[in-house]
Amino acid sequence: MTGEPLALYVHWPFCVSKCPYCDFNSHVRASIDQDEWREALLADLAYEARLLPDRTLTSIFFGGGTPSLMEPATVAAVIDTATTYWTPSPDIEITLEANPNSVEAARFADLAVAGVNRLSLGLQSFDDEALEFLGRAHSAREGFRALEVAQRNFRRVSFDLIYALPRDTEDSWSATLAQALSLGTRHLSLYQLTIEPGTRFASMVGRHDFEPLDGDRAAALYELTDAMTSEAGMPAYEISNHARPGHESRHNLTYWRYGDYAGIGPGAHGRREGMRTVRHKKPENFLSALARNGNGIAEEAQLSPTEAGDEALVMGLRLAEGIDAQAIAGRFGLLSIVDWERVDRLVHSAHLTREGQRIAITSKGRLLLDAILGEIALPKPISAASEPMPELLALQEL
Ligand code: SF4
Repeated sequence: MTGEPLALYVHWPFCVSKCPYCDFNSHVRASIDQDEWREALLADLAYEARLLPDRTLTSIFFGGGTPSLMEPATVAAVIDTATTYWTPSPDIEITLEANPNSVEAARFADLAVAGVNRLSLGLQSFDDEALEFLGRAHSAREGFRALEVAQRNFRRVSFDLIYALPRDTEDSWSATLAQALSLGTRHLSLYQLTIEPGTRFASMVGRHDFEPLDGDRAAALYELTDAMTSEAGMPAYEISNHARPGHESRHNLTYWRYGDYAGIGPGAHGRREGMRTVRHKKPENFLSALARNGNGIAEEAQLSPTEAGDEALVMGLRLAEGIDAQAIAGRFGLLSIVDWERVDRLVHSAHLTREGQRIAITSKGRLLLDAILGEIALPKPISAASEPMPELLALQEL
């Protein structure tokens, strides 16, 4: 290694159609000028590279949107340029998110030649009815076929499934999960369907077109997921991510362990030496900003030590390995980032574990992560600090 580690996130903001549950920065356009976008991403990359000299590049992640719609030549240009600006680590991880329709699967071999060495496939379901409900553009058959092509072309393949759909039961989900665990990948992302404000699903729920699964049934499916994946040797290393030991997404670990990452492309977030960066979300605004300023940045802010400590806590507690709370406090010159008395209460109620200064969330606690963070984070508003949240009080009394 020659310098401090750095990860690179590249956002490709285009999709063929908008899925009704999606609140990612994705846009549908009649045509996309690949040359213009290649130049734009390279210019945005050059800007970040000037501000982050002498780093070791440990990972690149092409996310979206649908980055499998990028021309492999564009992907290759970004990889080649990034690994010229920064020294690639010998085991650099280069992931691309892909949709499993046949047009995109036909590009997998070229993407591997471009330098991608890990594919994250958005299968979402093995059931055609569920795929139709989710507004996906592929069938279950296409999904299996794309997985086969991916496994032929990439040494590391992960896929995503969405569960806790309105009709999901413990029986149907355990059958799906058993099938998922038999498909030979060493990493799985398993997300519960959530109804995000501003999405088509949010309007449909508002019109009572369907009822989301209730919280208790969703929690039961989460517990089932936890048990089945642990039993299969692929426990959750993060709330929704499961891997065999050693096969975790190194790129995402950089986020959760609060490392630096450059984020380029529309809507990309980055963390550059204590600075939070956010790019313009709308592709056209991003291009105008780039022409005007030589970068696509919409907002840039220096994080205060308290903000940085808080973010590191929020990110780190997502991980099963947890955090060294005092090491984080020391990194940002703070006395503490948590209220240890409250931490110990939550250890007593089996929502957290503690070994010295190291704390981690338990599987029971994961279901209440947001409430737990609100409880233990320092500083907190006086009103929030005065009484534990009722949700947690109820659990502590059990
Ligand atoms: S393919 Fe992914 S990013 Fe695109 S609309 Fe669907 S969920 Fe959103």
